[in-house]
Amino acid sequence: MENIGIENFIKSLSPELQAKARACKSNAELAQFAAENDLEIPTDALEFVSGGCGDSSKKNVEVCNKCGTTLSGVPSGLPKPSGSCKYCSKCKKVLISADWHIEKR
Ligand SMILES: [Zn+2]
Repeated sequence: MENIGIENFIKSLSPELQAKARACKSNAELAQFAAENDLEIPTDALEFVSGGCGDSSKKNVEVCNKCGTTLSGVPSGLPKPSGSCKYCSKCKKVLISADWHIEKR
């Protein structure tokens, strides 16, 4: 799985910084690298990196805290209390971010 966010971020750097950024093996390393160089990493890119990049065999999935079902986007027509809402097809409920978590599968 390609991460467009982080790739675009790295490509926007100077060649020297690109090499350093690609050497980072974890979210924490990359965040520290960015802080040291006064850079700003896109939030969506960081979400992907959390837990360590380079593991392409697993991907992050959003899971219902209650029943463990993999969540989907909120179907159109249903109310969306916040931007990070997901929909559980088993509970038949719109979940706010406190009701679900991310698992690597
Ligand atoms: Zn559920």
